[in-house]
Amino acid sequence: MRELGKTGLVVGEIGLGTEHLGRTSKAKATITDVVNKAVKNGINYFDLIFNFEEYIDNYRVAFKGHRNKLVIACHLGSAERSGQYFKTRSVGICEKVFTNTLSKLGTDYVDIANVTYVKDMAEYEEVTKAGSVLDLANRLKKEGKAHHVGISTHDASVVQIAARSGKFEVITYQVNMANNALPGRNEALATCVREGVGVVAMKPFAGGRLLMRNKTVGIIPLKKGGGTTITLRIPAAMTPIRCLAYTLSQIGVSTTIPGVSSLNELDDILSYQDATAAEKDYSEIVKNFKEYEAGQCVYCNHCLPCPSSIDIGRITRLLDIARSTLSDNAQEKYDELETTASECTKCGACMSRCPFDVDIISNMEKAARLFR
Ligand code: SF4
Ligand code: SF4
Repeated sequence: MRELGKTGLVVGEIGLGTEHLGRTSKAKATITDVVNKAVKNGINYFDLIFNFEEYIDNYRVAFKGHRNKLVIACHLGSAERSGQYFKTRSVGICEKVFTNTLSKLGTDYVDIANVTYVKDMAEYEEVTKAGSVLDLANRLKKEGKAHHVGISTHDASVVQIAARSGKFEVITYQVNMANNALPGRNEALATCVREGVGVVAMKPFAGGRLLMRNKTVGIIPLKKGGGTTITLRIPAAMTPIRCLAYTLSQIGVSTTIPGVSSLNELDDILSYQDATAAEKDYSEIVKNFKEYEAGQCVYCNHCLPCPSSIDIGRITRLLDIARSTLSDNAQEKYDELETTASECTKCGACMSRCPFDVDIISNMEKAARLFR
């Protein structure tokens, strides 16, 4: 369980996306089975991306008896026309759809009302101007119909500005190995931590592309500055467990919301709970994506053991969080460590084990200087 920013909500580190479970009443039995099993296994965060009548009704049935244990997120701006999804910024339509969703779900409130899929900065301006969807979200919060206001986006610069704005308590953003090297991603996540904004990591499997054996995935290469997407073959060792382990180890992530389409796929996800350290170890995969090699720590802890018992991955993660501005939260977490960076003897034992050529000694020096 992890805290979701400053919302006061505590969420299971694995949640569920719901877009692949079917939208019509034919899926009702499967959805009920999936939700029951998920809740039994500690999943409490459910992201309801759509507002289709039958889809919502399926979750009304599936959530029965669980409501007070659940954190339900819905999306303002996700609407239906002739049986198809469409995105709208019309406040009138958003409110009508939201009201209908609440009533169909049979609940008085949702935990998080997300301003849905803000594509870029131009859309950010649109959804945050006076009289916009953000105003609606705030009004719903005032009326007790939504307990927290969130935003979902795939754009790191939107994450940055939304986190700094003080207008959003939760940000849903994609975090996976395919965007590991995306310029600005880690800085944006660090800003979320600094500002106490909860991060819900969507697409841990990059929309399933990371699990397509013998296929390829497009990634943004760090060394090339993020301009052109390149295509790399998926390493054979890629598994759902490793994808989840990667996503959950990244800065600021409170929960991740993989989408499942069946009980079997839910079982694959739940197997993360009992997975061994070796089954979770994603370092070889990231290492094999050569373009990721740029001295950037991915917090895999492959450099351990340290003779001084320094938790190198954890300290480097805190260092990355604190680098922009010293966060009290990072300092607090640093204070909890049994061994701090200043215990580093510069023996160099870790350096040869790091698959990513990270200058660990320099990072330990920086951390020792930065943290009091
Ligand atoms: S320093 Fe290297 S081995 Fe250690 S946690 Fe970071 S990336 Fe992994
Ligand atoms: S160089 Fe520092 S961090 Fe690395 S193994 Fe030696 S003491 Fe540990």
